[in-house]
This record gives sequence, structure tokens and C-alpha cells, in this order.
Amino acid sequence: MTTIADRISIAQSQITQAAQNCSRNSEEVTLLAVSKTKPIEDIVAAYQAGQRCFGENYVQEGEEKVIALSNEYPDIEWHFIGPLQSNKSRIIAEHFDWMHTLSREKIAKRLNDQRPDDKNPLQVCIQVNISDEASKSGVSKQEVAQLATVIDSLPHLTLRGLMAIPTATTDIGLQKQEFSQLEHLYLELKQQYPSVDTLSMGMSNDLAIAIEHGSTMVRIGTAIFGSRK
Ligand SMILES: *Cc1c(COP(=O)(O)O)cnc(C)c1O
Repeated sequence: MTTIADRISIAQSQITQAAQNCSRNSEEVTLLAVSKTKPIEDIVAAYQAGQRCFGENYVQEGEEKVIALSNEYPDIEWHFIGPLQSNKSRIIAEHFDWMHTLSREKIAKRLNDQRPDDKNPLQVCIQVNISDEASKSGVSKQEVAQLATVIDSLPHLTLRGLMAIPTATTDIGLQKQEFSQLEHLYLELKQQYPSVDTLSMGMSNDLAIAIEHGSTMVRIGTAIFGSRK
């Protein structure tokens, strides 16, 4: 049986391989271990294997895990990657280091107001809905610039980049098109804002193409922690 440590090391070698294939330095790509629904012991096992960045999707569950682990493991970096309703923003502002799924001005302002003064600014990515599907969250390509301006003006938030969940498809043409649009948007944003250095895209099944298109953070859950109920 493979352990969590084995699976982290496999994911790391996939990142290294994918980076080499497109002549990128694999150190530019961070592995975010998505631990949603998984118990604390699994996070500790991953930590002991050297993993430091963890992604959570659910506000309540994420809060409990941060509270349970942050004293003993202060160097864990907690990333919120799920949908956020504005009435729950305080929990994210108080407990997380990163927020990947920002798509509304109102929530940006609330997070800024609610971020405790003794913490570093909350590191944020704008979630982009690249396929413009009504069922998906995120802003359209056209709305990125406006939201970026707002975030950049808020002292308790730092704009780090973009996050996206491209369409899961076997249509290679469509896949390439979405990933290159995201890459272009990211490069444009990076030119405008020196704080921008993060393109959060790519999961287990599209990690290689994401890295080929400039991803700097891949979010992997099942391949590390096993399937969820
Ligand atoms: C759950 C989740 C992941 C990880 O998905 P797996 O299929 O378990 O690897 C990545 N990104 C987001 C936004 C998620 O919600």
C-alpha cells in the first residue's frame, strides 16, 4: 500500500517532469495539497513528509483544522479554495493565509475590513470563469481588471494572481484555448502589479498542460489523500 508520503513524492515528480518537458524550473510550481473532508491525521502525515501548503474548501471544516493545527504547526500555509458566501468572510479573514476564489468586490472589502491587524495581509487570487459558463463561479475575463484595481487598493489584501478551474474536457483544442487565455490574462496582470506571481491552475488530470501554460500552483487532493466519500 502506498502512503501519503509516497503519493506526495509521486506528485512532486510529476510536477518536476512536467516542468522539465517545457523547460521550466520545477521550483516555480508549488504543490497545494487539497485536504478537504480528510482528517487532521492525514494533514499531519503530509506535513511530516515535508508538505507545507494545504487547501480547504469548506469554511467550517477549514476553520476547525486551522484552529486544531496552527499552534503545533505554525508554518503550515492555509489556502481557502472553495466558494465563499459573504456572511462567512470573517472566518476566512481571521484564519487563512490565502484565498483563491475571490470574485466579488463586496467580499474583497469585507475580507479587508475583517483581516486582523496582527496578521499579514490576506494573499488573494481572483477566480476566473474562463468558459463563461453560468453554472461556474468566478469573474469573466473582462471583469478581472476592475476587481484587481479594487483589491490593489485594499491594505489588508495582497493581489497574488489568478485561479481557475478550466473545463474538464477531452477536447484538446478547447483545453489548450482555455489554458492559453488564462496564461495571457495572468501575464497581463503580472505586468501591471508587481505583487502578482501566482497562477493557481491544474489538478491531477491536467497538471502537465497547466504547467506548460505557466501554472505556478497545482491543487491536488485525491492523488495524495485518496478518494473522498
Ligand atoms: C477538490 C478540489 C481540488 C482537488 O481535486 P482532486 O480531484 O481531489 O485532486 C482542486 N481544486 C479545487 C478548487 C477543488 O475544489
